[in-house]
Amino acid sequence: MTQELLVAGGGIAGLAAALAARRAGWEARVFEQAPAFAEVGAGIQLGPNATRRLRAWGLLDAARLRPHAPPRLRVRDALDGRELGCLPLGERAAARYGAPYCTVHRADLHATLLEAAQAAGARLHAGLRIASAEVGDALVQARTATGALVEAEALAVADGVWSGLRDALVGDGPAPPTGHLALRALLPMAAVPPALRSPDVEAWLGPRMHLVRYPVRGGEALNVVGFIEGRAGTADWDQAGDAGALQAVAATLHRDLRALVDAVPQWRLWPVHDRPPVAGAAAMARGRAALLGDAAHPMRPYLAQGAGMAIEDAAALQRVLQVADGQVVDVPTALQRYALDRWQRCARVQARSQRNGRIFHADGLLRLGRNAAMRLGGEDLLDLPWLYGG
Ligand SMILES: Cc1cc2nc3c(=O)[nH]c(=O)nc-3n(C[C@H](O)[C@H](O)[C@H](O)COP(=O)(O)OP(=O)(O)OC[C@H]3O[C@@H](n4cnc5c(N)ncnc54)[C@H](O)[C@@H]3O)c2cc1C
Repeated sequence: MTQELLVAGGGIAGLAAALAARRAGWEARVFEQAPAFAEVGAGIQLGPNATRRLRAWGLLDAARLRPHAPPRLRVRDALDGRELGCLPLGERAAARYGAPYCTVHRADLHATLLEAAQAAGARLHAGLRIASAEVGDALVQARTATGALVEAEALAVADGVWSGLRDALVGDGPAPPTGHLALRALLPMAAVPPALRSPDVEAWLGPRMHLVRYPVRGGEALNVVGFIEGRAGTADWDQAGDAGALQAVAATLHRDLRALVDAVPQWRLWPVHDRPPVAGAAAMARGRAALLGDAAHPMRPYLAQGAGMAIEDAAALQRVLQVADGQVVDVPTALQRYALDRWQRCARVQARSQRNGRIFHADGLLRLGRNAAMRLGGEDLLDLPWLYGG
């Protein structure tokens, strides 16, 4: 008998989970509420921990991915423009961690996973929301928003930061706003003034703000994301952004940063929501249901690891679901092993992401202390062997 994984959510976590299940010898069905499987136009950084797992699935060389390998991560002070630290990436990261540090377009990563899941035999249903799920002893029974009943041996809850299914399992309410707003833009590189182009990942740290920029699509486009403190009117994903708010902040900052902000014609706004770090294995799996990606551990994007952790989750799920010689997997035990394997690492990444936000946005004496520490510690502070090597 072939067991089946039902996946709620067709984002990076859900598609990676479906691919992982097929690789483990399971059937997989993905339900995505949006009318089509798609991702928004923005960039994403993938550390060696994520690219190693993509490579194991044979996806790092996929034509659709179009990765860019930045030679360096450069951190600069947003007030005076001085370089605070620099971490060589490129060949050095690949040699040190056995896999490259890459930047990609989210839509390219999503399409790569979608094609791979489809080619592996996952069944994909767009335009169908999983409205509820009951996790029983023998089966998971889910209802779609159209009232159809879907049954499977296991459920992957991968419905993102605003997960509706999480509450029934973990019961901790909606993910609260962090008070930080992300303003994102993607520009064709040809539209970027030559003086502002760079192959590096650059992070500018300023009082109550920071901005990150890097090329994607093999260098064809520039991804820019500015983080400011404030509250959005609603929690909607991908609202039209208020460029004025970022321009007002940038007006007091270094001229190179101002020029970059001014070069962006249009921004998209994302209110940043997160949760406290995962408190234990019970928050990542219950019986026949496992949580993955932002549904499990939404985090501030200040370590650039939310999608990386989703990819790691799926790879960990594949290990515990692996079918040996036609045997049936004991699902609750397998998912418990998944949760035990994942929760502490995810919690550490969440905590570190929160801490980075405080350090990045430091002002006054804290800023001076940060800058002094970074100038002394530089590369050692930026390199994260526990993360990239894991
Ligand atoms: C500004 C910003 C920058 C970031 N930068 C990085 C980075 O550089 N590197 C990195 O690794 N991560 C980064 N992240 C984090 C990363 O984007 C997320 O962690 C990742 O996209 C989460 O994927 P997911 O599949 O868990 O959730 P989502 O992408 O939210 O997917 C969830 C899917 O589930 C669907 N859905 C919801 N409810 C249901 C339901 N009931 N039934 C069916 N479908 C449902 C949704 O429509 C959606 O398609 C960043 C995030 C932000 C906001």
